[in-house]
Amino acid sequence: MIRAVLIFGGGSAGFLAALTLKRRLPELPVTILRSKDIGIIGVGEGTTTTVGYHLHHYCNLDVATFYRLVEPQWKIGIRFEWGPRPYFNYVFGYELDTIYPPLPRGTGYYLDGEEAFETAGLQSRLMHENKIWLRRPDGRPQLCADEWTYHLENEKLVAYFETVAGHLGIPIIEGTATEVLQNDHGISSVKLESGEVLTADLYLDCSGFRSELLGKALGEPFHSYKDSLFCDRAVIGGWSREEEPIKPYTTAETMSSGWCWQIEHEYHINRGYVFASAFASDTEAETEFRTKNPKVQSTRIVPFRAGRYERLWVKNVVAIGNAAGFVEPLEASALSAICMQCQALAEVLADANFQPRASTISNFNRHLNRSFDTIRTFLALHYRFNRRLDTPFWRECLEKVELHEAARFVEFYRENGPSVLWRRLLLDTNDAREFGTEGHLAMLVGMSVPYDSAYRPSAEERLQWQRIQQKITEHVRDAFTVPQALQMIRAPGWKWPDKFYDKPHAMRR
Ligand SMILES: Cc1cc2nc3c(=O)[nH]c(=O)nc-3n(C[C@H](O)[C@H](O)[C@H](O)COP(=O)(O)OP(=O)(O)OC[C@H]3O[C@@H](n4cnc5c(N)ncnc54)[C@H](O)[C@@H]3O)c2cc1C
Repeated sequence: MIRAVLIFGGGSAGFLAALTLKRRLPELPVTILRSKDIGIIGVGEGTTTTVGYHLHHYCNLDVATFYRLVEPQWKIGIRFEWGPRPYFNYVFGYELDTIYPPLPRGTGYYLDGEEAFETAGLQSRLMHENKIWLRRPDGRPQLCADEWTYHLENEKLVAYFETVAGHLGIPIIEGTATEVLQNDHGISSVKLESGEVLTADLYLDCSGFRSELLGKALGEPFHSYKDSLFCDRAVIGGWSREEEPIKPYTTAETMSSGWCWQIEHEYHINRGYVFASAFASDTEAETEFRTKNPKVQSTRIVPFRAGRYERLWVKNVVAIGNAAGFVEPLEASALSAICMQCQALAEVLADANFQPRASTISNFNRHLNRSFDTIRTFLALHYRFNRRLDTPFWRECLEKVELHEAARFVEFYRENGPSVLWRRLLLDTNDAREFGTEGHLAMLVGMSVPYDSAYRPSAEERLQWQRIQQKITEHVRDAFTVPQALQMIRAPGWKWPDKFYDKPHAMRR
């Protein structure tokens, strides 16, 4: 019987676990342990729409307060500077997994050249014009929670979580654990530097990359993703925003030995070069990073390994966040994964009436392993077809990145083109829910991966496609820019729509 939970770690994983459990199971006592000496990772800025739903629907956190304290910026998609096009987008919404009437086929067939995704859909057009919301006929913004998510600053986010935890009466113990004691059931107690000893029935390992309980104490084996993901370090930096407009999207730029993100905050621009140490030293990566971003101030290197532990729940330990596993932030999936892990745990405890049996735990592990592996597989697709730069790193990716379950999707695409016919069949339920046909087609069409289909759009269809693009452009013409939207939400009298996030939501869509 689980009567008390100790959350080992107070980064975003630890706090999200505490808030989730407290909201779903208010009767269950949870305590957070964190070490100010060790601190938090302090990166983690892009998100997917899952995060908004988790915070504001599942955890019932007030939207207006969140905006006031965390000061998020909006993200309506990712712009990839990958492949032969100047860029392509992967948006929240449907552009590739769509048949625009009166066209007979999916959008991808009409994006068969090497032009940018300027007007592949409304979201792409908004991105192109640095706008965020469409304008309704009554002049007000058209708001849809599925169509954007947040850029967040990790430290502001964790500070906000701490405030909420305070309001919910969640105790936070400041201290560094120096010893972890075990018995047949798993962890029996955690001893702090101060000599204090903490005990619980269930221990959540939210200790970040250190994985103090699952990895170190219990010795759970690590399942590496190195056959698909070759990067293992990041050099991170940024600068104070000057005249640069705030872009409502994340940028992912191809670099010689990896890729570089650009994440937008109101007063700050955050960049990070994720690279493979087998192809570039820290100094080489930093030099390339600084050459391309001369405004970068101080930098730091963050090493990581891509993969997950074999099981996330072992004995009386459940790992959440970086303590459970990690993939690079190419799809900004880490916070979403944490939200899903927290929800899964809360639902399991509720369903099992605080007495989870072996079959529940093994299915919990199966479910979350598949979620992790799905992200790995989708990221593999990003690497396998990017021909933008001819460097040793990218040659290795083109030749060797293992596609895993994405191979079936690619095989169908190669023979048939960007068809949406099998949108519900080509992907397993997990892949379909997370990135879906939209995501997979965005990558393949975006990187102009060739296909064999005998189908070619007629001249009449090309004309229709142009008319559709004109309509999209007209629709976006008087949409709201980011500064206009910011001014609007800060004006007295602004109110977010009632029940804005009021429906269950599963991963990215
Ligand atoms: C380069 C990079 C880029 C990233 N970008 C993104 C992104 O764009 N989007 C995204 O969603 N995620 C991103 N992430 C992931 C993000 O960092 C994590 O998902 C998220 O912040 C969760 O961190 P955490 O809480 O697991 O770990 P941490 O923030 O490291 O927290 C660990 C906690 O454990 C405590 N602790 C550890 N050891 C002890 C001890 N012995 N005693 C007491 N306390 C202890 C620490 O004090 C801390 O409170 C990125 C990660 C990296 C490395």
